[in-house]
Amino acid sequence: MADRKQSRNPKPENPLGLDLRPMRRGSVGVRFVKCGKAGCACATDKDARHGPYYSLTRTVGRKTKSRFLSKSQAAVAERQIKAGRLFREELEAYWRACEALADEELEAVEGASSTASAEKGGSVAHSSARSKKKSPS
Ligand SMILES: [Zn+2]
Repeated sequence: MADRKQSRNPKPENPLGLDLRPMRRGSVGVRFVKCGKAGCACATDKDARHGPYYSLTRTVGRKTKSRFLSKSQAAVAERQIKAGRLFREELEAYWRACEALADEELEAVEGASSTASAEKGGSVAHSSARSKKKSPS
């Protein structure tokens, strides 16, 4: 019930101007539990435990946040998490492209020792930095 309050945020900010997608970080877990009632079979029989209970878990800072989900909510949450993973990969690619651009910008400035930097960090990003040059205008 406390969750309801959070979902009525007016509209989240969108500083990058990207299309917003329903995606999330975290994981979905499934559990079978003992109820603790005297005489219930779940106390002794593993197969008689109650469930499945689905939960969504996410670590925020040092805290782990968890909430229960219905089975169909769990399926949706799995899809959202998958979308989030994909986005992280896209974001990583975006970073690489930005850093390649940043390398170009650095190289355009006269440096103190341009040979030393090529030896240290020139393993991956070197070729891609030059091959695709997109001019913004
Ligand atoms: Zn029980």
